[in-house]
Amino acid sequence: MTIALQTSHLVKKFGGFVATNDVTLNVEAGARHALIGPNGAGKTTLINLLTGFLEPTSGSVTLQGKDVTTLAQHQRVKRGLARTFQINRLFSELTVLESVVLAVNERLGLSAKFWKPVGAHTQAVEEAAELLRTLKLLDVAHEQTRNLAYGKQRLIEIALALAAKPSVLLLDEPAAGVPTSESRALFESIAALPRDVTILLIEHDMDLVFRFADTISVLVSGALLTQGTPQQIANDPQVKEVYLGEAAHV
Ligand code: ADP
Ligand code: MG
Repeated sequence: MTIALQTSHLVKKFGGFVATNDVTLNVEAGARHALIGPNGAGKTTLINLLTGFLEPTSGSVTLQGKDVTTLAQHQRVKRGLARTFQINRLFSELTVLESVVLAVNERLGLSAKFWKPVGAHTQAVEEAAELLRTLKLLDVAHEQTRNLAYGKQRLIEIALALAAKPSVLLLDEPAAGVPTSESRALFESIAALPRDVTILLIEHDMDLVFRFADTISVLVSGALLTQGTPQQIANDPQVKEVYLGEAAHV
């Protein structure tokens, strides 16, 4: 088995507070890996350490076998690590296709002024259209992003991240703020992405997690409590006590 993304004894302290406590995590290539844990467990902090948004206090991050601990965010993106853009990265006046073309251009190092998909079939337009096909967004290709349902907007953010041709995609609560009526479809689209993209995601909705994931890691108070298949996690008394018990009275 190949490990796509790995942390080794990762620690992040904010002053005296330990937000990430000696986390050693392996994400297998092709995995649909979910990171769960109560609020404040350190899930987002861990993602931020993986992307390079935060610098660890100690420990290391390895991407495709290479140590990337000291690399800046954009250098990690170049090496195949992508995360979803925040919602405000969507240019509301652009169409879906134009937005994705812009993101593909960014990877190709082309100027932003070439975004308009008029005239000749450029590589970027074809690639963008292919991404939209994969995510079943072709029917809204010419809609302005601001007119789309929130679930579809989140999918466009994923399309923008995929435009970087990542080998690993990090998703921090992709269904946050998405109505339940749309979140199932959103997760089905994420699960259907080609397996050459490894996915590590944070999600608090257990139904979505258990449908999606083949591996689940449980983070509690900054430390990894356990890891296993959805079935192992569902039957783990420690997890029930620490995490699911908490969720039950939310
Ligand atoms: P989760 O995503 O699991 O809900 P977070 O990673 O956002 O948890 O936060 C973990 C803990 O670290 C929380 O107690 C939070 O208050 C703290 N924390 C996160 N970021 C900072 C920061 N920049 N400065 C101080 N404390 C932080
Ligand atoms: Mg969080």
